[in-house]
Amino acid sequence: MSIQVAVNGYGTIGKRVADAVTLQPDMELVGVGKTSPNHEAELAVENGYPLYAAIADRVGLFEEAGIELAGTVEEMIAAADIVVDACPSGIGAENKSLYEAHDTPALYQGGEDADIVDSSFNARGNFADAAEADHVRVVSCNTTGLSRLLAPLEEEYGVEKARVTLVRRGGDPSQTDRGPIDDILPNPVGLPSHHGPDVNTIFPELDIDTLGLKVPATLMHTHSVNVTLEAEPDADDVRELLDGQTRTFLIPEGSGIDGAGAIKEFAMDRGRPRADVWENCIWSESVSMEGPDLYLFQAIHQESDVVPENIDAIRATLGTADAAASIERTNETMDIGF
Ligand code: NAD
Repeated sequence: MSIQVAVNGYGTIGKRVADAVTLQPDMELVGVGKTSPNHEAELAVENGYPLYAAIADRVGLFEEAGIELAGTVEEMIAAADIVVDACPSGIGAENKSLYEAHDTPALYQGGEDADIVDSSFNARGNFADAAEADHVRVVSCNTTGLSRLLAPLEEEYGVEKARVTLVRRGGDPSQTDRGPIDDILPNPVGLPSHHGPDVNTIFPELDIDTLGLKVPATLMHTHSVNVTLEAEPDADDVRELLDGQTRTFLIPEGSGIDGAGAIKEFAMDRGRPRADVWENCIWSESVSMEGPDLYLFQAIHQESDVVPENIDAIRATLGTADAAASIERTNETMDIGF
């Protein structure tokens, strides 16, 4: 019998995870939890996804809007083998007792604190750590992008020290209340940004310093990466290693893809749903070695890179597949890899 998956919180991440669940031959979408009858609630109905009211008091609002509900979120959780919580930061922690009351294992997103879960998760970095955990956090978009990069470097060459400057988008395209509008903010001003310690939830021993900035952009994040390796490969070897990973895209030299806008255009031209870019986008030309120091630039699509990771985290948590089998299945069904 297929895994019954509930998605609680049907926003930027939740709607993408719900779609990805429906592509999996070993999973079935029980439904999605929603707080208000907005355009995304209508989308769920159009997609044929059973809709459950996340807040009991608001059932009437759905009725007034003519949107049919399948029941309450408690009923959805009770019917699920696992729930993916994709609520705004901090709400996942509040929902934890609901999932515990139904004895339903839960995945949370990167906006939650690492200490509310048994294990943090990245498929390439630490798939096996989620085995038999009840509460697992799929790390943030930036930490996912860094984990995918650092895992093969650590395995192949050893990492002495990683230093990353993250140039972060101010908000997602639909977040009209975010900023900055016309500014460049060191964010946080003090070191480290939370990303380095977050990477340590996946690789506890890794020596990493991170700095963050926020800029008036919505499309993607960009990382300026310096990793001091324990070996001195040449740049072509590193390119080959990164090219051989399944969730990294080495932007070919001469492709004319010179920034986040061009990456998104490329994704749209390839017919990607919502112009999503699930892969780390690493500029091939930027991959450089200076002695043991590797330098590169990569772009990360914040709205979508964690989606395949959520799918793998479902199998990892329930123990239904190992890392290689799960990643391969997810990549195949979602058509990951340009
Ligand atoms: P979002 O605001 O787009 O979506 C969250 C949805 O949850 C909204 O539809 C909201 O109405 C709903 N919601 C609020 N309270 C709820 C409740 N009690 N029960 C059910 N639904 C509820 O947020 P998002 O960007 O999808 O972020 C969700 C999580 O994913 C956060 O932890 C965030 O840090 C993380 N994340 C976001 C991004 C990103 O760039 N958007 C990337 C990686 C991880």
